[in-house]
Amino acid sequence: MNQRPSHLFYQGRQRRPVLDQARGVYMWDVDGKRYLDGSSGAMVCNIGHSNENVLEAMRRQMEKSTFGYRLHFETEASEKLAAKTAALCPEGLNRVFFVSGGSEAVESAMKLARQYAIAVGKDSRWKIISRAPSYHGCTLGALAITSYDPLTKPFEPMMQAMPKIPAPRAYLDGLDPEDEATGHHYADMLEAQILAEGPDTVLAFIVEPVGGASTGALPPPKGYMERVQEICRKYDVLLILDEVMTGAGRTGKFLACEHWDLQPDIIVMSKGFAAGYVPLGAMAAHERLVEAVLDAGGFLHGYTYAGNPLACAAGVAVIEEIERQGLVQNSATMGAKLMDRLEGLMQRYPIIGDVRGMGLLTAFEFMADRKTKAPLPAHLKAFDRFVNIAYDNGLIVYSRRTRNGVEGDHIIVAPPMIVTEGHLDEITQMLDTSLAQFTDEIRPELDKIA
Ligand code: PLP
Repeated sequence: MNQRPSHLFYQGRQRRPVLDQARGVYMWDVDGKRYLDGSSGAMVCNIGHSNENVLEAMRRQMEKSTFGYRLHFETEASEKLAAKTAALCPEGLNRVFFVSGGSEAVESAMKLARQYAIAVGKDSRWKIISRAPSYHGCTLGALAITSYDPLTKPFEPMMQAMPKIPAPRAYLDGLDPEDEATGHHYADMLEAQILAEGPDTVLAFIVEPVGGASTGALPPPKGYMERVQEICRKYDVLLILDEVMTGAGRTGKFLACEHWDLQPDIIVMSKGFAAGYVPLGAMAAHERLVEAVLDAGGFLHGYTYAGNPLACAAGVAVIEEIERQGLVQNSATMGAKLMDRLEGLMQRYPIIGDVRGMGLLTAFEFMADRKTKAPLPAHLKAFDRFVNIAYDNGLIVYSRRTRNGVEGDHIIVAPPMIVTEGHLDEITQMLDTSLAQFTDEIRPELDKIA
């Protein structure tokens, strides 16, 4: 562990090498060591690093103007990005509000939903139901609808408690995710929660279509999303899709909601939307909501940096690159090949208890026993140790230990959508080496448990 002194601080004491350059799927530190970015940072750099067309678009915009405050000027870049985004969203979601990241996008959605309810005379509706576990951001509003104890517990007294329902984890509950009855079983928990709260108090349901950091690239069981939408409609509850991680092609469609032909009321995006080139996020809302709020006096919300022309120009260029290179299709094709490779590793390493994913959002989960689904003991800190071993071997992956009743270490593998089969071979080989090392390292501790 690198211990050089610094004025910078993030979450913990662990320090990482200093980044020098990044191109395509590779990154180099200042000592010249090369890493393959197997998680696109935190599922961000979907089009790869230092794409020349994006850099050129940013240069062109910087030479024209770098800032125009949104209440003083509209810009060509923000107009263009809003139009492009609306065209990629389900019908009716044609009003776009820009922000600088995922948490800001989620906060915006919560406040737009609430203002809409007030505008149409439903002031009693304020509760936003979400799932446990889930991750929707780190600001206090987004954290109130997040369910992940290590991040939420200390702040509970400072937040408005919001209702939660269990996220569907069919593989742990011994249910078949391909059976519609499974999807309905979990979705019906939403209906039960709405009834328990009193439908007149429930404003919205927010859901990550494919669980990201929370459940580890876990797709919903068959029939779940459609039934969730039906229930929301039945009780006049707004459906908010958090596509911060799943958007911009990550799951093999531009938006994950296209897998189920959903018509949500609001979609939030960030991460791959600007692919790491600038801080940028967006909320796309149904025109019905926006018109009602504007008619009632305006949206009481906004960030100084929102709609920044440089950020929007980068956003346009990122979408153009996704389209020009056919990266959504590549995410679907390479994602399926990556899943095959992960399943191959699962056959060789009993410590892998589950492999799942959609497009290039894939994960595997460690288990002490596949039959009982027993997790590795928490004290092993498997998620941290494996990431560090892979890092030393030149592969960057992303990991979490899920809490809230169900334990488990999952490792997310989500390389940039520009990956080729050659890159997948390299990733698989580095995972193989890292899994062998990791298994050797923890074997004595596992033997003690057995
Ligand atoms: N929503 C989801 C699904 C996320 O995965 C994240 C970040 O990981 C966020 C919201 C928050 O985004 P940000 O970290 O950009 O604020």
